[in-house]
Amino acid sequence: PARKKVELDPRFVNYKHVWVFIEAERGVVHPVSWELLGEGRKLADALGVELAGVVMGPPGERTRQICGEAFHYGADLCYLAQDEVLRDYRNEPYTRALTELVDTYQPEIMLLGASTLGRDLAGSVATTLATGLVADCTELVIEADSRNLASTRPTFGGSLLCTIMTQRHRPQMATVRPRVMAMPDADTARSGRIVEHKLAIIESSIITKVLEFIPDAQQDKPQLAFADIIVSGGRGFKKQENFQLVWDLAKVLGAEVGASRPIVQAGWVELDRQVGQSGKTVRPKLYIAAGISGAIQHRVGMDGSDVIIAINNDPNAPIFDFAHYGIVGNAMQILPALTEAFRAQ
Ligand code: FAD
Repeated sequence: PARKKVELDPRFVNYKHVWVFIEAERGVVHPVSWELLGEGRKLADALGVELAGVVMGPPGERTRQICGEAFHYGADLCYLAQDEVLRDYRNEPYTRALTELVDTYQPEIMLLGASTLGRDLAGSVATTLATGLVADCTELVIEADSRNLASTRPTFGGSLLCTIMTQRHRPQMATVRPRVMAMPDADTARSGRIVEHKLAIIESSIITKVLEFIPDAQQDKPQLAFADIIVSGGRGFKKQENFQLVWDLAKVLGAEVGASRPIVQAGWVELDRQVGQSGKTVRPKLYIAAGISGAIQHRVGMDGSDVIIAINNDPNAPIFDFAHYGIVGNAMQILPALTEAFRAQ
């Protein structure tokens, strides 16, 4: 049935442009910000408006440099808010700063990464602004008729995709998980303009204080999201000792090890290695899925991979519906054979 047309609240008619929140902690930008600039560029072009990065952080050269990097990844301009209250991420000053920027410069669309920081910030900003937020989107398009942002995300445990629109309020907000969108190429010749915004937030008005900054001790935790090759194993391996075959193949290929959820739940590998809806989203050049059925909750985390090779003894396993190459056979025999073949090279 035709959708009932909903008019935009007249208070928001002047809201324009597409914004991407550039997430940086201690001067290190989360790559999801660049992925979102790539996506934001398409939305801005579809609307015929500018694409802006929002850079917030402590005073200093590094915070300003981040604007330059945002231009390389497609931003036309950057809103820059530098203040001591923004040194380390805290929800309250960041929410106040971002809502102040929104109220002042009025973006039509605002995208944030669905990282730990982005999820925390997006929720409180959307609540403060009383606007709509669609979390964990897998697709963002501008609807031709209404020019609204149509944000698609999995629902009902990943078995359905739903498309949600914020019709009466602005900005239209969405978060996207790292690696869901492709990384754009950086053009180091590109530049843009910086709009500096002076905040009026006083430290004594913020109820949380940073007492100490303790870097993540687990520096060597798996970097699945940005791996070029991943060898993933599933319940087809049956016993924990058989899962060693996945590690062996990964080692000769210089790959990361991934797993389906039952393997993580059984405690064979740590949670950081789970691929899928409730785990990591990955986009490697090569994804080898062995003994994995290809349930939708696994698929949504890996079907952006360039090449998927499935190894499964059931020729009707759903994974063969979307794998680029399939081997029907016993993973317990095929993996050691592949490991030997690559080792011999
Ligand atoms: P199975 O479905 O049991 O498949 C095992 C496969 O191995 C079969 O296809 C079988 O034919 C094959 N096999 C058996 N023996 C061999 C052999 N010797 N050689 C080769 N192949 C063999 N799952 C995830 O992976 N990630 C998630 O993030 C995730 N999130 C979820 C969130 C929700 C809300 C829900 C409800 C579920 C979630 N799941 C997730 C679980 C998901 O639905 C599946 O149950 C899970 O992915 C199945 O894992 P599997 O493929 O290893 O096991």
